[in-house]
Amino acid sequence: MALKPEGRFVSKISIVTGASQGIGEVIAKRLAEEGATVVLVDIQEDKLKAVDQDIAQAGGKALNFKADVSQLAEAQRVCEAVLAEFGRIDHLINNAGITRDALLMRLKEEEWDAVLAVNLKGVFNFSKAAIRAMINQRYGRIVNISSVVGLMGNVGQTNYAASKAGVIGFTKALAREVAQRGITVNCVAPGYIQTAMTERLPEEIKKAFLELIPMKRFGLPEDVAAAVIFLLSDEASYITGQVINVNGGMYM
Ligand code: NAP
Repeated sequence: MALKPEGRFVSKISIVTGASQGIGEVIAKRLAEEGATVVLVDIQEDKLKAVDQDIAQAGGKALNFKADVSQLAEAQRVCEAVLAEFGRIDHLINNAGITRDALLMRLKEEEWDAVLAVNLKGVFNFSKAAIRAMINQRYGRIVNISSVVGLMGNVGQTNYAASKAGVIGFTKALAREVAQRGITVNCVAPGYIQTAMTERLPEEIKKAFLELIPMKRFGLPEDVAAAVIFLLSDEASYITGQVINVNGGMYM
């Protein structure tokens, strides 16, 4: 990563969950390049520290918190610490997510609960912990990472699809609640993106996905990060309650 001398987010405080790898890591680094102070949140402590170091070595500003987004108290702990140190929270990117795939017939209750707890309740937890500060400062940008699966469904992912569709409903409702307070709330819905999450899928599933993508290639975390950065920027100040699809045309 290379720091931009005239970054768009100088003096902004940005929280990114699931920031230790994949899409979250790239979003965090793009934010740091643009001058933001990036608050990295994840359950993977070692990887989190490595991302923090990368950003610091490039001359950027970051701090990291090992925290579980599924726990409201953890979200509150992170947001309170950020507010104590910086007095504001400008950006919240709810990116942490997990899959526990199985056909409904075989899906265990714990797999349903785990996915809903991280992917949907995690978004509630961090949004709730950050929203008061955003309202008080009359400024905020929340970007929630949903999924193409939340829009079109997918075999073996009833839990994941429900969580990601839930994120879209949550986004639209919160966008309406805070629209008059200078706060925008939007979703980015990635298609198939090359990360650890998709790496572990069987080859035949990957092939089947490729068939569905008009562009005939998988996306990169950078493709998703570009849409997130746009939604955080001043250029997107009149955009709220929207879902930006980044999926190579897989769902239109
Ligand atoms: P990833 O590589 O698995 O990264 C997600 C990160 O979040 C991991 O470090 C993960 O740790 C962490 N995490 C999991 N549970 C957490 C928790 N309770 N609290 C804090 N951090 C937690 O996934 P990705 O592919 O970058 O995906 C990022 C987001 O994009 C997710 O919301 C995902 O659903 C969404 N998305 C991805 C794709 C895709 O094709 N990759 C497509 C559509 C949407 P562990 O590794 O320990 O779980």
